[in-house]
Amino acid sequence: MDISSSDNAAVIAQLNAVQDDPVRLLRKAHELLGNKLAVMSSFGAESALLLAFVAEADPNMKVLFLNTGKHFPQTLAYRRELADVLGLTNVEDIGPSHERVSDRDPTGELWAFDPDACCKLRKVEPLNLASLPYEVLVTGRKRGQAVTRASMTIVEERADGQLRINPLAFWQAQDIQAEMQRRHLPPHPLVAEGYLSIGCAPCTRPVDGQEDARSGRWSGLNKTECGIHIAG
Ligand code: SF4
Repeated sequence: MDISSSDNAAVIAQLNAVQDDPVRLLRKAHELLGNKLAVMSSFGAESALLLAFVAEADPNMKVLFLNTGKHFPQTLAYRRELADVLGLTNVEDIGPSHERVSDRDPTGELWAFDPDACCKLRKVEPLNLASLPYEVLVTGRKRGQAVTRASMTIVEERADGQLRINPLAFWQAQDIQAEMQRRHLPPHPLVAEGYLSIGCAPCTRPVDGQEDARSGRWSGLNKTECGIHIAG
């Protein structure tokens, strides 16, 4: 089913009606949108819960994993483990082409002197390309993660007309952890080492008990987002 901007209101109304139940929301979205829907997952510290909801709604739902080439090896192992444990059958790795990386980041150190350009090369451009067939993306973002996400809704219409569904928008970190434990979901192996928000290895550090989880991302820089969630 193709949705045009004029159809957005009808789709949003149907999704909003079930927004309090993440599994019903995902099922309804898949029913309405079919293969025009994809889930984005970083397979990070809290990703297992959204992916468990996806598996319960439909394990064949498309899941996109953005492999930047800069992930911790533990994240790559966790991506395989979670897909197996949850029975996800349609996880696709996307990422920058070798040509673009060797052209614009030949030493692999672009992150150190121009992280915005690095995120553009390794995240924004590959996701824009890979998400072309999809009219609606599901994300695991939460309101509490950053001020840029504080007013995010569960069903979100961006400036470019694309819809984003954020089933966990109102979930708190402690509720996510409790639900992950209740469901016996395996934790990301780096959580035990103090990594509470996990992105690329060069741009992620562990946090102590006083810091918020995302303070370990691009630490020391005036940067809180990689750009893939900025409205078009
Ligand atoms: S998070 Fe860091 S390494 Fe990853 S794409 Fe952005 S700047 Fe590059």
